[in-house]
Amino acid sequence: MARLIDGKAVAAELREGLKARCAGLAARGITPGLAVILVGDDLASRIYVRNKERACASVGIHTRTFRFPAETEMGALKAQIDALNADDSFDGILLQLPLPQGLCADELLERIAPEKDVDGFHPLNFGKLALGLGGKTPCTPAGCMELLRRAGVEIAGKEAVVIGRSRLVGKPTALLLQAADATVTLCHSHTRDLAAHTRRADILIAAAGKAGLVTGEMIKPGAAVIDVGINRMPDGTLCGDVEFSSAEPVAGAITPVPGGVGPMTIAMLLKATIDAAEERRG
Ligand code: NAP
Repeated sequence: MARLIDGKAVAAELREGLKARCAGLAARGITPGLAVILVGDDLASRIYVRNKERACASVGIHTRTFRFPAETEMGALKAQIDALNADDSFDGILLQLPLPQGLCADELLERIAPEKDVDGFHPLNFGKLALGLGGKTPCTPAGCMELLRRAGVEIAGKEAVVIGRSRLVGKPTALLLQAADATVTLCHSHTRDLAAHTRRADILIAAAGKAGLVTGEMIKPGAAVIDVGINRMPDGTLCGDVEFSSAEPVAGAITPVPGGVGPMTIAMLLKATIDAAEERRG
């Protein structure tokens, strides 16, 4: 029976530490600030943004959401980003993705000042990550690494398999695991015989967005399994990419969905904003 890696509990513990750091900054007259840009009316994005606002408030980060209709043109969004880059009261700028059709996320992400890029999506930060030069790290991958560390999972020298190669999750997670001295295999939709790879994994990260893609017989006994997937089922419930019922008896440690990686993503966003405030304001 696998040990449950409780992301909710780890995130709550992290938040306590972040609250204390915020209080330290407040004593110096500094309130970390996060600006969120939300374009369009996507329900999931609105829920994510609301959760981020609440989480910021709970640790003492000032936040403001700049809302734009779906038909907004690139010029107006670029102007908003320029204004936020120059606004000293914001240490972090987050562009909520996905954007409505017709808008180019790459162009906008590149416009965000790298030192305020708390999501770590700016090419400069991503390049630094790839080169092992530090920089800002995307929040979900950072959350996965923190969960592994807090669960006491040894990474150096281990076989790590990441399913999914998106720039949001899969790619940066693979880079972080590599930086932590794991031997990393990155799988994607063209991978032949996925199970042959996953069965070798001491650490398995599932980030494909396919409900139940990974079943128990695809998991090496004792492996640490981090399930990043969030899939909404027809009955409205959420599930991950890993079939929990068959995986749990085989894995050594496993994250649940919900309550695993999700809460960590938000906690790491808060941390990134406070880090940015400390870096920017000495
Ligand atoms: P994405 O951009 O759609 O990327 C999915 C990746 O999975 C792609 O690289 C794709 O391969 C690969 N893939 C799809 N089907 C596969 C299969 N059958 N076998 C192997 N690889 C397969 O998704 P994402 O943004 O990375 O998100 C992945 C999942 O994580 C989603 O469920 C998302 O909701 C969730 N998520 C959770 C959090 C959190 O906080 N917990 C944060 C972000 C995302 P190709 O490149 O070949 O197409």
